[in-house]
Amino acid sequence: MKTFRSLASLFSELEEISSYNEKRDKLAGFLENLEPKEVKRAAYLTLGTIGADYEDTDLGIAGKMAIQAVGEAYDEKEKKINKMLDKMGDLGDVVQKIDSKTSSRISIKEVFSALQRIQRASGEGSQGKKIEILAGLLKDAGKLGAKFITRIVLGKTRLGIGEQMVLDSFAVAFTGDSGNKDTIEDAYNKCNDIGELGGSLAENGLSSAKRYSIVLGRPVKPMLAQRVDKVSDILERVQTDEIAAEEKYDGERVQLHKDGDKVIAFSRRLNDISRQFPEIVEAAAKQIKAEKAVLDGEIVAYENGEIKPFQKLMHRRRKHDIEKYREKIPVAVFLFDAIYIEGKSLLKKPYPERRKRLEKIIRPSKRIKLARRKVSTDFQEIKGFFKKCIEGGLEGIIVKSVAKKSVYQPGKRGWLWIKWKKEYAEGMQDTFDLVVIGSYHGKGSRKGHFGALLCAAYNKEKDRFETFTKVGSGYKDKDFPEIEKKLKKHKVREPPPNVRIADAMKPDIFYEPGLVVEVLGANITTSTGHTAGRDGDKGLALRFPRFVSLRPDKKPDDATTIKEIRSIKNG
Ligand code: ATP
Repeated sequence: MKTFRSLASLFSELEEISSYNEKRDKLAGFLENLEPKEVKRAAYLTLGTIGADYEDTDLGIAGKMAIQAVGEAYDEKEKKINKMLDKMGDLGDVVQKIDSKTSSRISIKEVFSALQRIQRASGEGSQGKKIEILAGLLKDAGKLGAKFITRIVLGKTRLGIGEQMVLDSFAVAFTGDSGNKDTIEDAYNKCNDIGELGGSLAENGLSSAKRYSIVLGRPVKPMLAQRVDKVSDILERVQTDEIAAEEKYDGERVQLHKDGDKVIAFSRRLNDISRQFPEIVEAAAKQIKAEKAVLDGEIVAYENGEIKPFQKLMHRRRKHDIEKYREKIPVAVFLFDAIYIEGKSLLKKPYPERRKRLEKIIRPSKRIKLARRKVSTDFQEIKGFFKKCIEGGLEGIIVKSVAKKSVYQPGKRGWLWIKWKKEYAEGMQDTFDLVVIGSYHGKGSRKGHFGALLCAAYNKEKDRFETFTKVGSGYKDKDFPEIEKKLKKHKVREPPPNVRIADAMKPDIFYEPGLVVEVLGANITTSTGHTAGRDGDKGLALRFPRFVSLRPDKKPDDATTIKEIRSIKNG
């Protein structure tokens, strides 16, 4: 069994490496020598977590509690710890300095189990219990181990490693070829459990990746849509005589898992949002005729037979007063896909068949509806349908391939689904979903707030965030306190290893990738100030950006990718 110290030493080395390939290979070299069960634990810990993406892995330890635990472990006054923290900026670094133990035999498994016990402690007295377990763990772990345990507990490993790099390292470690990463990523998009996937690859090699399918209660990543600039491009992409266009609803993506009377609703980020939408869960249990099913749809605010604007639905994003808001802002779900029915996956079935199966198992009601659509061989009719959707206040349409190969592709943004929105039809730029990685202090009327946010796009191939624009306008007064509150927990002293910022753009405050915002821009140029898809000394840059809204439904790696920006730029 490997010691936790060996994992902490690896983390320490990884922290210092900036080359993507070098980092991936180093991680792969370590994983390769572990037992499958240890691979599972090491993969979670590398990402600073203790379970699958869709599981509740929150350890429930905030900054203050962690400081208390450190005080207990080393018999130090909290005042002193706080002072050191002020100076050093990272509690993990503080712990490494205070701790004097250079060796420790504590295993990865022991650390992992203790973290699980911290997570499970709940109810009365649980805070004290969490602190006690953590203090005991820190005492045993040795200085390097304690440093990374502290960071993991606070949710910031600072290794600059995301899921994509871990998947790539699995390919290298267990198949000997980074070229197998796509196959491994496909499996991950279906299971969303990086630990389990790593463990089974370590045990059975690449063949195990191909066996992943849908399991009830375990969400798959939602399939995504491509965009086109001209309506005629749709025809070119679809390549069938018949075209199916569905109404495009502007709400919240949801995946319903029904098992008998039990229904779980998963968000786009794969969080369980059943408690937020009790009426959907109740209605789904009654109106879905199949015993077991996984269905894809969009929840919208819906009253008196009318779809209400997206802003209304946002008020339902809450943990409290659910009953009150359930009355105040009623919702409905428009279902558009069926990917599992009665024990069988439908992922590989073509869309027309999935749609037929969906229609068969739904009893439409006030809360459960079928996405309305138009199927025609006459493109003029599709255009007419789009016009009607816009007149009816919808965002646009999603054209869905009806070809034989029109399978459901979890997590993929392919040409099987194409979005066509009002904005595109009017020749306007589409918006970008970008990650905030820095901010600049405001001046004049903005004094005391941020003046602009430094926003980055996602470079998926390199698993890192590259700056694309500095957004100084579009904010309403109420946006400042809200954004600042959300950014606070992502604040870091130094830019993390997985962000790229040009010297000229250095912000006043750095943030680790966490908050995603929607930004509208005029056009894309190149600039030495930005690092997005940098070629030579110039990166891609968005001109005249305006803040539109927050995107709490997206994780940093769901942000607009460099590849997408390139394809938008080139038309
Ligand atoms: P994306 O989801 O493509 O990353 P986004 O969240 O900004 O981007 P849009 O680009 O506006 O959303 O459109 C895609 C989204 O539209 C889907 O993720 C889904 O939530 C929603 N949607 C609404 N109606 C449909 C439909 N009939 N079929 C598929 N998706 C739909």
